[in-house]
Amino acid sequence: MSSDLHTTVAHQLRRTRQRYTLGRRQLVDLLAEAGRPVTIPDLIDAGARQSQSSLYRNLAILEQCGAVRRLVSTDDVARYELDEELSEHHHHLVCAVCGDIEDVLLSESVEETLRAAARDAGRERDFEVETHRFELLGTCGACA
Ligand SMILES: [Zn+2]
Ligand SMILES: [Zn+2]
Repeated sequence: MSSDLHTTVAHQLRRTRQRYTLGRRQLVDLLAEAGRPVTIPDLIDAGARQSQSSLYRNLAILEQCGAVRRLVSTDDVARYELDEELSEHHHHLVCAVCGDIEDVLLSESVEETLRAAARDAGRERDFEVETHRFELLGTCGACA
């Protein structure tokens, strides 16, 4: 996995006075390889060699430093992904039946429209919008 990614995460952890342990590095690699939000069982299936309690703790520490984002889905099972700063700006397709979350990229023109609308909505309330999060709820192919 790119050394840039690890350099950035190491820096984020240092800012929160945490070490970049092998276990945390492995989780960052697995999340980067997955390229989509994954559950703890997904991480174990993908080869995370850590106890469940270490997984929770390491993910919480990576979340605190801003490297990882924790998503709550319709099934109340947490999913994890690398923060957008480490991947790219995207949105989510959330299945209301099984809780699966898939990434979706919107076109640049749609993003531009969303940015402008968000900026205007914020301005009316004296609020400076930095980014937006936007999810599409529905039924995935497997559940349809
Ligand atoms: Zn589904
Ligand atoms: Zn967007």
